[in-house]
Amino acid sequence: MNTEWMSQAKCKDMDPDVFFPSDGVGVQVAQRVCLVCPVKLPCLEYALAHRVHEGVWGGTSERERRRLVRHRRSTTVTTAAATAATTATAATAATGATEATTATAATGATGATEATTTSAVSLPARDPQPAGRH
Ligand code: SF4
Repeated sequence: MNTEWMSQAKCKDMDPDVFFPSDGVGVQVAQRVCLVCPVKLPCLEYALAHRVHEGVWGGTSERERRRLVRHRRSTTVTTAAATAATTATAATAATGATEATTATAATGATGATEATTTSAVSLPARDPQPAGRH
């Protein structure tokens, strides 16, 4: 992985202990430095790619990176499932289109007859005129 970004790091001349805090206040101090760092994203990606669990990297705490990794995993799984579903749908559509057209044509042919029949049968069954309107 490319590490040229490290030469532009806002923290390059700082005490590394600042970025390995022991409490939440320390995390916030480090995150304030990261906030104005021009290489925040490559720094975060580096930590994620190298599974760096300790310290503040790319403006994220250890807990935030764990959450991010979980989210990315679930997104990747969802995307993979969606791709598989799309592929299956496309395959079904390719073969099912003919079946659907045939089924519609068959239903349409019998349905028209049924509709005519139903209409013929149901026409006389109209609501009676209200009394006194003749
Ligand atoms: S984002 Fe933070 S930890 Fe990463 S290089 Fe910049 S200042 Fe350092």
